[in-house]
Amino acid sequence: MSKNISETKYVFVVGGVMSGIGKGVANSSIGKILQSKGYSVTAVKIDPYVNVDAGTMNPVEHGEVFVTADGVECDQDIGNYERFLNKTLSTHNYMTTGRVYQSVIERERNLEYDGKCVEVVPDIPNEVISRIKKAGEINDVDFVLTEIGGTIGEYQNMLFLEAARMMKLKNPGRVLFVMVSYLPIPEIIGEMKTKPTQHAARTLNSAGIKPDIILGRAEVPLDEPRKRKISIFCNVDKEDVISAPDVSTIYEIPLNFERDNLSNKILKKFNLKPKESDLKNWRKMVNVIKNADKKLKIGMVGKYFETGEFTLSDSYISVIEAINHSSWANKRKAEIFWLSAEEYEEDPSKLEKLERFDGVVIPGGFGSRGTEGKIKAAQYCRENKIPFLGLCLGMQLATVEFARNVAGIKNANSTEFDKGCKPVIDIMPGQKKLLKKKDYGGTMRLGTYECKLKKGTISSQAYNEELILERHRHRYEFNNKYRKKLEKNGLKVAGLNPKTDLVEIIEIEDHPFYVGTQFHPEFQSKPLYPHPLFKEFVKTAIQHSQT
Ligand code: GLN
Repeated sequence: MSKNISETKYVFVVGGVMSGIGKGVANSSIGKILQSKGYSVTAVKIDPYVNVDAGTMNPVEHGEVFVTADGVECDQDIGNYERFLNKTLSTHNYMTTGRVYQSVIERERNLEYDGKCVEVVPDIPNEVISRIKKAGEINDVDFVLTEIGGTIGEYQNMLFLEAARMMKLKNPGRVLFVMVSYLPIPEIIGEMKTKPTQHAARTLNSAGIKPDIILGRAEVPLDEPRKRKISIFCNVDKEDVISAPDVSTIYEIPLNFERDNLSNKILKKFNLKPKESDLKNWRKMVNVIKNADKKLKIGMVGKYFETGEFTLSDSYISVIEAINHSSWANKRKAEIFWLSAEEYEEDPSKLEKLERFDGVVIPGGFGSRGTEGKIKAAQYCRENKIPFLGLCLGMQLATVEFARNVAGIKNANSTEFDKGCKPVIDIMPGQKKLLKKKDYGGTMRLGTYECKLKKGTISSQAYNEELILERHRHRYEFNNKYRKKLEKNGLKVAGLNPKTDLVEIIEIEDHPFYVGTQFHPEFQSKPLYPHPLFKEFVKTAIQHSQT
């Protein structure tokens, strides 16, 4: 039965002091604890930047581009939401300043404002409000949890705070504000300081919003004196100041929140009765994550992780998650080793290091930098029977490698990297025109497509299904003109799109696990429901580690 939308409750999560302190995970965790009490929830991410979606941003700068089933290129927080809530989200769960303005302007151009002057306030906040409400309606939920990106006091997110304020004014009993703040412990002072949080609360007050709950992010739990101070100076009940200390796994956060009874506090504020929560399986999983002593060593050959002196793994977050989920299901802790593809180009003798790993993954990517190194890594794994999983670009390069070194097509490559090559991977016909017009935004082959599996393959054994649905993000594809020749040399086409014959999965013979997918299975893996293909990969990697 569909819910009465006049009953839907709205929680806003905003960030104080600085960014990067885990608002997304806090939002996901609030969702999880409400869900554990039998409520239905959905989560919305607001990104204050002007980009219409995250697809045009460099992953080193922005982190992974997550893709929804309906083909939106969005922020990695949507991935966190899906993983914590075990849900499939859509375009309704994500907005940016660019998206909001784009629809208001489109509507204005279509004369939908009846000749009125269209103004930033209230027309932009009104659009934001209608999107948040729509997310509740479409998902048919009790709670919509909205994370406003950026930090309080920033110019960019003001209109979103304004929308939240307007929602509270109209529905006072159905809107709640959670401020996630950071409490530093400067080494030189040796004491946890609350002042930045006090300032953040005041800045939020000046936007017309009073926080109902404050989540205090810090290295360690907040003590009583800190809670008291925050309560007095930020104008919240002491019991509504919740500790959110650093954790070894993000999946512990819902359990920590429950230790402070957060879900019942939220329910009480909405005049709902307290309830028992069921986090049994979740707790079991967290125990495994924290206590698994057996390791699984996975090498990841990529390029989006070096930025100055730092190494960022955010660009591949869903792949790491998917490896972890399957490892946890086997009571193992995955250790991921970052391998720079370019190193293999400079010094092929380094390839021998791949021998140390139980399995190797080549994830997705764009542009030619590092591709020859990845091809060498794929060759090494094929020849040395190391479990290998190629994702999107990883599958394309495994095909190129096979074409060159097994099928003898010397100049084989993808036209993404070499226009004059033997194009075993080529641009999709529909994509050619788009690139000519420089129409880059949101125009790849995106989102869910069907794939029919061939019986007797590793993939069909892993999925145990004939027809699967997987998410995509690419412009280039396996060139069917070369299919016969490659198949004759032992390449197996294990999955095909039933409508277009686009090759979705390749495998090779006489290898424990050598699979390349044009799609991104990592987007659908959930902590308690690991993805079948990753499960099979991890299973083989464990066997490999024991040989
Ligand atoms: N660059 C390749 C393409 O566009 C692969 C994309 C990816 O790995 N997501 O087809």
